[in-house]
Amino acid sequence: MRHALDEAAHAARAGDVPVGAVVLGPGGDLLATGHNEREATGDPTAHAEIVALRRASAALGAWRLAGCTLVVTLEPCTMCAGALVQSRVARVVYGARDEKAGAAGSLWDVVRDRRLNHRPEVIHGVLEEDCSAQLTAFFRDR
Ligand SMILES: [Zn+2]
Repeated sequence: MRHALDEAAHAARAGDVPVGAVVLGPGGDLLATGHNEREATGDPTAHAEIVALRRASAALGAWRLAGCTLVVTLEPCTMCAGALVQSRVARVVYGARDEKAGAAGSLWDVVRDRRLNHRPEVIHGVLEEDCSAQLTAFFRDR
């Protein structure tokens, strides 16, 4: 999560909301990193999780990220939750909850919807205060 927080700081420097993500391989090795690049790239899908998932798949040469863990500073939105299910990651770890748009336990729980054929394990609240403080500082400074 510390690595994801560092990634998020890169987003803020480019004027993007500071959200950072990392993907760990089955053995815990760092596969990929990503941060929110919507403003930097003009791409509405360039959320930290999507960027990191794409890089992890490129690194592995496969779309299926079985056994992998995605760590992100903010609870995934519906788009990212859908991508996490599609990627077959084993585990999703996030820091701050997103009561307004979270899709991993707050507003929705897409990743653990029993109607879907893949449900990653979810661990939340990791370094939650640090993750929340980074977002709060960004919006306060704007
Ligand atoms: Zn998202």
